[in-house]
Amino acid sequence: MLFILSSPSGAGKSTISRSLLAGEPNLTFSVSATTRAPRPGEQDGREYFFKTRAEFGAMIEAGELLEHAEVFGNLYGTPISPVETAIANGQDVLFDIDWQGAQQINNSALGAHTLSIFLLPPSIPELRNRLEKRGQDDAETIGRRMEKSWDEISHWGGYDFVLVNDDLDKTEEQLKTIITATRLRRSQQPQLTDHVRT
Ligand code: ADP
Ligand code: 5GP
Repeated sequence: MLFILSSPSGAGKSTISRSLLAGEPNLTFSVSATTRAPRPGEQDGREYFFKTRAEFGAMIEAGELLEHAEVFGNLYGTPISPVETAIANGQDVLFDIDWQGAQQINNSALGAHTLSIFLLPPSIPELRNRLEKRGQDDAETIGRRMEKSWDEISHWGGYDFVLVNDDLDKTEEQLKTIITATRLRRSQQPQLTDHVRT
């Protein structure tokens, strides 16, 4: 399964993804490519593959991206090859991408294997508060992210599941429940055919 997580910037996607992945050995994080500059503490190949615009353009030309989009004036995209490797190894994949990327993957051949989850913040003032407390963007960048938050939120109706991220532990539990239930779908358990037959 491909699990897509979207939200306005600052609602908590990265925080929840990090703690979820730590306890889910069968879940692989899809590391995106981006032209945005690394934030303090971010490592190339861990949070993102940091690229110049020219390098990113070459990846598009070479057909190396499953989807890509411009977000807050920077390019972001999902490299195909690690996703293919993860699927071949029987792993589920978690994507932290925006609504544009979610739509592109949903409309691709992989759409049938995709489950999308939207995180809503408890309120707009709390969203700003989280961006400020994160302390990684300057005031202008925070202003731009806040201005764009409604663009992202307006797409919440296109997602399979919607969670209000007020309490971090609660949201993580809810996300685990969604993942567990999805893995129990009959279509996700082909090995049961033999089990039942024998
Ligand atoms: P995103 O990846 O969606 O941009 P982050 O995961 O970076 O958001 O979260 C933004 C900030 O909000 C971080 O400082 C994080 O610790 C904090 N945060 C995330 N979820 C919660 C929550 N449920 N309650 C309080 N703070 C939160
Ligand atoms: P940030 O700069 O805060 O890490 O991410 C900004 C926005 O870009 C977030 O909404 C995030 O989900 C989105 N994003 C990150 N990687 C990708 C990607 O590969 N594709 C798309 N479409 N959006 C992405």
